[in-house]
Formats: sequence, structure tokens, C-alpha cells
Amino acid sequence: MPHKANPERYSSMHYNRCGRSGLRLPRLSLGLWHNFGDVDVYTSIREILLSAFDRGITHIDLANNYGPPPGSAESNFGKVLKNDLGAYRDELVISTKAGYLMWPGPYGEWGSRKYLLASLDQSLKRMDIDYVDIFYSHRFDPDTPLEETMGALAHAVKSGKALYAGISNYSPEQTTEAARLLREMGAPCLIHQPVYNMLNRWIEDGLTKVLDEEGIGCIPFSPLAQGMLTKRYLKDIPEDSRAAKSHGFLKEKAVQDNLPKIKALNDIAEQRGQSLAAMALSWIMRLPQVTSVLIGASSVTQLDQNLEAINAAPLNETELDAIDIILK
Ligand code: NDP
Repeated sequence: MPHKANPERYSSMHYNRCGRSGLRLPRLSLGLWHNFGDVDVYTSIREILLSAFDRGITHIDLANNYGPPPGSAESNFGKVLKNDLGAYRDELVISTKAGYLMWPGPYGEWGSRKYLLASLDQSLKRMDIDYVDIFYSHRFDPDTPLEETMGALAHAVKSGKALYAGISNYSPEQTTEAARLLREMGAPCLIHQPVYNMLNRWIEDGLTKVLDEEGIGCIPFSPLAQGMLTKRYLKDIPEDSRAAKSHGFLKEKAVQDNLPKIKALNDIAEQRGQSLAAMALSWIMRLPQVTSVLIGASSVTQLDQNLEAINAAPLNETELDAIDIILK
């Protein structure tokens, strides 16, 4: 039996306009980088995705290489879409990307037209859909003219295989140039996807200003620093955590190095009566440029804890100052 979505799914989520576009995105979006590959359990994949949709998370973020193995997150998402969410396609914003290594040889990564358009076709096949809502260049390619990479994104939009174009991991200068090219090509840049969290504040140094000027939305990824900005690692490295998994991108050393800061931040969260995870998300939501925050989750319990950030009281000046001191 296909899933019957919660009729109250739009009652507690907030939706923000993405830059100067007509598209609104939920305050929290769900990313399928970890926990949705063939190494994971399908019943859990399905449960997290359906719970997210039932709670108003309309935006699901993928990339060609998410898994492992690469491609399997898209295939698994396609399966849930077909079996359970097919009737709700028009209520979903589905994103994918190309830029990192996907197949061997000279055409399987970076920013050529050859790679980007072949990869988009492969993604559509894996998900068994006719179009994605957002197609991203996953990273800037120093060896391909930006005009070619942006031309491929604009072509994807004009061919109807993507509704909007986005960029990820581009510097402020690269973003300005990409925005100009896409505007000239008639497929304005909708959104930028940069890493941003309490342990990595690089976007404050120029990128947010460019996004304001260009009217581009911002969807920060790894807002919990892959789980470090939660209670997960306060005592040890749990066996089922990302840092303990051989295919996980989070390394034990990063956890150890950041532990003093994490503990001090957790004290502030406790004083606020909030989980550290929710506080880390509230902290990101303080920036007006942030359209949506792109979380990951390995359980519905985590998802629900993160959703608490949406209606939480904003951080006050005293709390923000105390956080700044810890992060220095
Ligand atoms: P987060 O920083 O939100 O980390 C998610 C992980 O944190 C979860 O898998 C889980 O780890 C842990 N976690 C989440 N909530 C809680 C909680 N309440 N309590 C305890 N632990 C929690 O984001 P990700 O690093 O997963 O990135 C999010 C998305 O961003 C990706 O799925 C992808 O879509 C996108 N992304 C984009 C990149 C790009 O280059 N454009 C690069 C990286 C990510 P555990 O599994 O250990 O339980």
C-alpha cells in the first residue's frame, strides 16, 4: 500500500523564499549523503523519508555519487518515490548534483558539459523521474571554462530536465561570475550550497554578501558538522555513528580535536533548555541569507529533535557572544 501522507504536514513547517525566485523551501531540508545507500537498511531509509515528508520537509537533496555504492541513494530514493510518494511528486523539490568522481575516465567528474549532462541523465534514470527541481554544479572546475559548466546547467533547465540551476562549494568570486553567466543565459542561479556550521564559518567572509547582492538563496550543508554538534560524541564514539563507520566521512580525530568546544557549547544549550543539535541549527538560522538548512539524519528520533529548532526562541545577544568566545 502506498504511503498516505499526514494531512497536517504543512501546519508546523515554515517555508522561505529562495533568493529572489518564486520557489519556497522548508526551513529544514533532508540530505541523503549518508544513511540512504545500499549499505543501509531499506526499511529505515523509507521510514526517515516518509516521516520527513509527513512533517513538511518537501525538499530532498541528493547527488550522483551518494551511497555507498555511488548512485544507490538516488536508486533507493527513486524506489520510495515510486512505491510511496508517487502521488506527491508535485509537492516535492528534488535536487541532485554532479561534480565529484562518478565513473572512470576523463568524462566522469568535474565540470565539462559532457560529464554534467550525461550524469543528469543517469540520475533521472536511477530515480525514475522526468526532471529534477534543482541541478547543481557540485564543485568549481578550475580547468573548464565557467561558461561551459554554467552552459550545461542552463541547457539542463532549458531542456526541462531541471527546473532551476544551483552551485555548490563555489567561492564568493566564482559565485559572482557564475551568477552573471547564468543570468545572461536565461537560467538564473537559484541557490548556493556551501558547508556552514559553528565549526566552519567561511561563508561569513564574503559569500553571504554576494548572495544578498545576487538574490541567490543559501542552503548550508553539514550544519551539525556531520553529527559533532550534537550529544552523539560527548562520552565516546558510538558503534553505529558516522565516525565509527569505515565508509563515514567523519574521522575520529576531528571528533577528538573539537570535543572541548562541543562540551562548552552543550553547556549553553542546556542553559537554554534546548538540545545541542537544535541550538546548532538555530544558530545557522540567525543569518537572513539562509533559506533552508540541509540536515542529515540516521533516525526519525534525530529528525524530530532537529525539527525542534524551527519553533525555538532565537539566540539572544548574550548567548551569541558566549558562543563566539567558545568558537574563537
Ligand atoms: P549534518 O551535519 O546534519 O550531519 C548529519 C549526521 O549527524 C547524521 O547522519 C547523524 O549522524 C547526526 N545527527 C543528526 N541529527 C542528530 C541528532 N539530533 N542527535 C545526534 N546526532 C544527530 O549533515 P550531513 O553532513 O549529513 O550533510 C547533510 C546533507 O548535506 C547531505 O546529506 C548532503 O545532502 C549535503 N552535503 C552536501 C555536500 C556538498 O558538497 N554540496 C557535502 C556534504 C553534504 P549518525 O549517522 O552518526 O547518527
